Formats: sequence, structure tokens, C-alpha cells
Amino acid sequence: MSITTPSAETLRGACAVHLPGDPGYDAARTPWNVSVDQRPAAVAVPRTVDEVVALVRAATAAGLRVAPQSTGHGAAALGTHDLTDVVLVRLHELTGVTVDAGARTARVVGGTLWADVVAAAAPHGLTALHGSAPDVAVAGYVLSGGLSFYGRREGLASGTLTAAEVVTADGRLVRADENENADLLWALRGGGGNLGVVVAIELELLPIADVVGGMLLWDRERAPEVLRAWAAWTRAVPESVTTSLRVMSFPPLPELPPFLSGRQLVVIDGAVLEDDDRAAELLAPLRALQPEMDTFGRVPAAAMLEVHMDPPAPTPAVGDHAMLGSLPDEAVDALLAEVGPGTSSPLMFAELRHLGGAFARPTRRGGAMSHVVGEYALLCVAVAPFPEAATAGKAAAAAVLTALAPWSLPTVALTFAEKRVDTSAGFDPEDWARLAHLRESWDPQRTLVANHRV
Ligand SMILES: Cc1cc2nc3c(=O)[nH]c(=O)nc-3n(C[C@H](O)[C@H](O)[C@H](O)COP(=O)(O)OP(=O)(O)OC[C@H]3O[C@@H](n4cnc5c(N)ncnc54)[C@H](O)[C@@H]3O)c2cc1C
Repeated sequence: MSITTPSAETLRGACAVHLPGDPGYDAARTPWNVSVDQRPAAVAVPRTVDEVVALVRAATAAGLRVAPQSTGHGAAALGTHDLTDVVLVRLHELTGVTVDAGARTARVVGGTLWADVVAAAAPHGLTALHGSAPDVAVAGYVLSGGLSFYGRREGLASGTLTAAEVVTADGRLVRADENENADLLWALRGGGGNLGVVVAIELELLPIADVVGGMLLWDRERAPEVLRAWAAWTRAVPESVTTSLRVMSFPPLPELPPFLSGRQLVVIDGAVLEDDDRAAELLAPLRALQPEMDTFGRVPAAAMLEVHMDPPAPTPAVGDHAMLGSLPDEAVDALLAEVGPGTSSPLMFAELRHLGGAFARPTRRGGAMSHVVGEYALLCVAVAPFPEAATAGKAAAAAVLTALAPWSLPTVALTFAEKRVDTSAGFDPEDWARLAHLRESWDPQRTLVANHRV
């Protein structure tokens, strides 16, 4: 009896497929985080839902597993998995968004970016719980929680997921909503790419047309007083305020604006969901520190995709994340010892995102990940265009995490987890147990390969 070797060649009829050795393979396998060297058995680029169905069926028939990927912003953890028997399903050709203004919902096709959803919602005076970057995909973000600048008032973005259309591991197209496959919908609210290839999702939108948002910027020399002031301020502000503080370092580059090029900075940015007078009152303690730049003001909600100054194009990056339970002055000092004035850290930034508030409470609809446990999410990122820079960046990020370990929690926010982590740390134990059970029933052969595995 002969044993047939599984072959990715059989995928070619399903959709556009790039195999190792094909001229398009290297370009097709390169994720947004271009430092990640993912080498799957094949890269598939479906253009229709039927092609996704055909591809998943062909992959399983060939004995291959399937890893959905929309942009590759979250590729770092996926890249640490063995992908030699995995078809990477890149969804950037499967996009589109339809807004139902009356129902305040959006139907978002598989690989669509936040920029497109926010632009489609804005003319109706609506927006969504998007993150800081316009070119992150809705699916990867919402399916793993999603930390928005509206989140301390509104909770995790996964709580706005009302329905999904999913190609499951057995190659069926199913709908999950409150009436049909409600268990799958529950699992998708946090379960990431472990349940199927999501070809469309439906989201609740928010009636927010404009918002007080922006940034405050100081030279890094001011970091000690600014960090202490922000830490104290975050302990007092209402849930209408969600901000981030970053200690940042930019190389001298002609393409950067002069206020960034070659500089070390402290930047606070975010949103204040209040009227102008109340927002000004809330921001006053930070403005009293006389920032060199202050862009806070009322802006159209769509402008919130720009305030964080995320890289506008694919970037090679390494990073690490921890959750902090508190940020006393001793923790601020520990952070400053790594990235404050006089240090020469290779990190592009060390960020603290203020969480708590509604982030920490189960969302109205529930779900596998209905909240995150922690007051601040720490994220350290270094640009890593070559291996030595990656090594130095990882070491610097690890040093910050070690310095802040006394205030760290055993939990994680999975969208911020750049490295492979214990995925269960993103969930309450009972929710994790139910999610693991649902993964087993929807994907008994473990066909799906997500960046953070259930
Ligand atoms: C510059 C930058 C800014 C960011 N800002 C924020 C922020 O403000 N808040 C925040 O919470 N996070 C933020 N993130 C993290 C980001 O939300 C995660 O990396 C997220 O997973 C990216 O989703 P993606 O689909 O674009 O990436 P991908 O790498 O394509 O996807 C990540 C994972 O999601 C799953 N997935 C993606 N698409 C599908 C699909 N169609 N079907 C099934 N599974 C799918 C897969 O398991 C995949 O491995 C940021 C990241 C970067 C690089």
C-alpha cells in the first residue's frame, strides 16, 4: 500500500496560491511586521468567500492546517510556530464594508482595515471601537479583544461583535449570531483565529461624531515629572478618558517631521468623551506641565486614527507586553531607569495604556474575553530591520518588563502580546475552559492555526 504525501500543489485550483519556489511566494508570505520570517507550506490569497471554502476543503484534504491572516500586524507570535504544514490564508483581497446607519451597525468583510470602516461610519455620525492604527484589520483586532481610545467608557471591542460569517475547519460557511450558533459567536468574542476563517463580521457602531482628542508632547528630559503627573492623573480621571503615555525615541530621518526627527520624547495621547469645558478641566493638570506641543481639541471621530502616529507602512518590529496592576512612583522610577533621561535604550517606545474602567468589567453581551484584568498595559517596541537590532530590542523590552515585574499581573491583553504567550492568561479560568471546549467541538482536528493558540 502506498502512502500519498500531502501536497500543497492540490491547492492551486482553489484560489491564487503561492508555493515555496514560486516567484510570488516571498512577497505573499511577508506580513505587515516585516521582521517576521513566516515560511508556510503555501500562501493562499482568496478573493471570494467561495474561494475560502474551496481552499479550506482542499487544505484539509491535503492534510494541511490553515492560518488566517488579514494584515500580519500580529504576525510575530504566529511566526514562532512551525508552519511547514500550514497554509497561510491572507485576506487582504477580501474586503468591504456596509453601514446600516439606522441600526447603527456595520458589516465588515474578512480582511477589511479599520480606516475603511471608520470612513464609512463617519458620514452617519458614527464610529467604532477601533484601535490606534488605521491599517490594522478589524477581524484580528476584534476577535482578540481590541483596546480602543474609547474603551474605558465602552469596554473591549470584542463586545461590539454581534454576528460573524465563518468558514469552519470542515469547510462549511456558517453564520454565528445570537440565534444561530450562539456558542460560536461567544467564542469568537476573544477566541481569535482559532475557530475558523472569519469572512465577515457585524459590529455595533457608536453614536460619536466628534471627540476631544489629540496629544501632548515634551522632551524626554521632562519624563520624570510628566510620568509621575500622568500616573497620579490616571488614578483620578473618569472613565470618559482613555489615554496612553509613551517614552519615545526617533532616529534622525529626513522623512520625519522636525518635532520627531532625532528626538527623545514623552507623548501622552488619547480621547476625552466630554464636552469642551469639562475636557479642558480634565486636561488642565497635564497642560500645566507646559507641553512643547498640544494638539488636544475637538476633532471629527475619524481623526482619532491619526493621533497616535503609528507607522504608516509595514515595519520590522519586535516587542514585549505585560499587564500592570498599579503604577506607583516606585514603578515610574523603575521605568525611568530603563528609558528615562540619560539612558540609551534601543526601544522606539515604551508605552503605558491606561485600562481599567469598562475594560475591566464584563461587556453587556459577554463572550470568551469580555474584559481585561489590569490597570495599565505595558508595551515595549523596537524597530528591528536586521537580526542584531532584533536581539538588542528584545533584550531592552525584557529589561523593562523585569524592572516592572513587581507591579505586573499574570494576565495579558492578547492584541498587545507580540510574543507567543500562555493564551489562557488573557481569559478568566471558566471562560477559558468553555473556549477550549468550543475550540475542540468546532475544530476537533486542530486545523486552525492562530497567532495565540487556544
Ligand atoms: C501599529 C500598531 C498599532 C496597534 N494598535 C492597537 C490598539 O490601539 N489597540 C489594540 O488592541 N491593538 C493594537 N494593535 C495590535 C493589533 O490589534 C493586533 O496585532 C491584531 O491582532 C492585528 O490584527 P490584524 O488582523 O491586522 O493582524 P493579523 O496578524 O493579520 O491577525 C492577527 C491574528 O488574528 C487572527 N485573524 C486575523 N484575521 C482573521 C480572520 N479574518 N479570520 C480569523 N482570524 C483572523 C489570526 O489568528 C491572526 O494570527 C496594534 C498593532 C500595531 C502593529
